[in-house]
Amino acid sequence: MTALVIIPAAGFGARFGGEIPKQFLPLAGTPILLRTIERFFNDERVAQIVVAVAETLLANVKQTERVRFVAGGATRQESVIRALESAEGDFELVAVHDAVRPFFKTATFHALLDVAAEHGGAFPTVPVTDTIHVARGGRLVSTPERDQLVAAQTPQCFRIGILHDVLDKAKRDGIDGTDEAGLAARYGYEVRVVPGDAANFKITRPEDLAYAEAHFEELSAP
Ligand code: C5P
Repeated sequence: MTALVIIPAAGFGARFGGEIPKQFLPLAGTPILLRTIERFFNDERVAQIVVAVAETLLANVKQTERVRFVAGGATRQESVIRALESAEGDFELVAVHDAVRPFFKTATFHALLDVAAEHGGAFPTVPVTDTIHVARGGRLVSTPERDQLVAAQTPQCFRIGILHDVLDKAKRDGIDGTDEAGLAARYGYEVRVVPGDAANFKITRPEDLAYAEAHFEELSAP
């Protein structure tokens, strides 16, 4: 079954600071976003990649049949919706992947596609090592049991009709989710958890990029 890959990359990376959004910073000499695209580009199970970027960048990118660039929206979710709407072709499966996770494992991605084909949705997770509390108004209000918590990674994979449905419903209901797995579960779809990998971390802060540079070879292992 062929997959569409959506990469939301239209954000400004406020947490990273600096002038250049983090997805365009070089990692071992090549922009992080290009490294991420390249992994999917070389994957025979990927039919098309749609990347949502800031509208101002569109004039400077080359559109091809396999890799398309579209203008993102005001939120990550809106960028995913726009990318999904502009994909052209028949795909059974879709994967939504953070631009700043260039070290995902191909074997994990393929396992996710297979689980999504069978069950509807699947995403990679890693265990949570910190204790996570819920705090509101400066006070701790509750403490979920740590062994029930997982940290979500991407690529998050779905049968494509499911992603269309949950994004439509989220828009209708005014819900702006931070990931698609959460939205799919919220609307009643089965979303399976697949073991992720510490190497597939999100390059969020300057120290993450320094770590990625320092360990580039080992992190890049397929
Ligand atoms: O800010 P955060 O790390 O949650 O953003 C996740 C991803 O969503 C990033 O790759 C960012 O570029 C993308 N994004 C987007 N459109 C927005 C905001 C964020 O494509 N309006």
